[in-house]
Amino acid sequence: MVLGKGASSSLSMKMADGAEDMVNNNNFTVLVVDDDPLIRKLHDMHLKNFGLRAQVVENGKKAVDLCHVGANFNLILMDREMPVMNGAEATKELRAMGVNSLIVGVTSCGSPNEKQAFMEAGLDYCFEKPLTPDKITFLLQELNKNN
Ligand SMILES: [Mg+2]
Repeated sequence: MVLGKGASSSLSMKMADGAEDMVNNNNFTVLVVDDDPLIRKLHDMHLKNFGLRAQVVENGKKAVDLCHVGANFNLILMDREMPVMNGAEATKELRAMGVNSLIVGVTSCGSPNEKQAFMEAGLDYCFEKPLTPDKITFLLQELNKNN
C-alpha cells in the first residue's frame, strides 16, 4: 500500500524512458534511516545501482543530529519503528527544523492508523518495505521535478 500525493498511479507505471539517464545524471544526496542492518545494506545496494551514494544511520535521533549540524539531503528514507527515536518523531522534528527534503517512510508493519500518523508527521510518501528499483525510479522522478 502506498499513501500520499497520488503515488499509487505513478508507481504502477513501468520505468520511464528517461530512467537510464537518471542513473548517471544525478547528484542527489540520500540518507537511509533504519535500525535493521540488513535493510540498511539492501537499500544502500539498490541506491548504488542508481548511482546514488547514501549515508546511513540507525535511528531517528542520528538523522536529526546530522541535520542539526548542517547536513543536507535531497531524500531521506525513514523507517518507522526504531529505538531511541522512531521515524514519526524524527520526521516531526526535521520538519520543525525547516528540513524540506523529500522524506519517505519505508515501513514493514503498522496498522493503517499508525501509517496515517506517520504520514501526518510530515512524510511526502509512505512505502512498504523493502525499497525496490521501481520505487527508487519513482522517487528520482519526483526529485528531478523539484530540483
Ligand atoms: Mg525498524
